[in-house]
Amino acid sequence: MEPSITRISRFGFVNAYLIREDDGLTLVDTMIPGSTKPILAAAQRLGAPIKRIALTHAHGDHIGSLDALAAALPGVEVLISTRDARFLTKDMSLDPGEPQSKLRGSYPGAKTRPTRTFEPGEMVGSLEVIAAPGHTPGHVAFFDRRDGTLLSGDAYSTLGGVATTAKVNPRFPLPALATWDKPTALRTAKALRALDPARLAVGHGNVAEAPAAAMDAAIARAEGR
Ligand SMILES: [Zn+2]
Repeated sequence: MEPSITRISRFGFVNAYLIREDDGLTLVDTMIPGSTKPILAAAQRLGAPIKRIALTHAHGDHIGSLDALAAALPGVEVLISTRDARFLTKDMSLDPGEPQSKLRGSYPGAKTRPTRTFEPGEMVGSLEVIAAPGHTPGHVAFFDRRDGTLLSGDAYSTLGGVATTAKVNPRFPLPALATWDKPTALRTAKALRALDPARLAVGHGNVAEAPAAAMDAAIARAEGR
């Protein structure tokens, strides 16, 4: 089956994705500020309207163009996990039950408020919301069971080789350096691997086809094996 995703990248460094739905397109993540034009151009090439914006987490390089896109797309749905929605309002508190690790990376907040927040297990269009905490407390992945595409956000990266955020990849250290709690990130990396995705679409780097072996190797490195 043809993958239903289209990757949009700025400088090959950070990605957003358009996912085809019966009613139009779902945009996953919004990249850095100034990314509205390439995102809208990609939607135009696909000939379908962006109906919803779904965010993997609240870091600045994933929500950077949220406000501009929400302004350019009146009526668009804006969706983020209930947990990471708090970062959009710059509420940086940790809950008592969470690891009290330091929040890392940029949390610039946004003026846009979600039209709906979600919990793992819920659906966003055809995408199943998968709990993927660790990089941020409310980080999620999206799994498209139609074709086995896993949109992992920053739970994995492929720039400089497939890596988890549980251990710094010297060839692209940024995602691990911006990670809140590495033990949680490692558990998430294993849980996502257990989904046995056909394709891994990450926040940073190329889409990896048949990623199982590379994910196993990344988990082994994170475990120091
Ligand atoms: Zn991030």
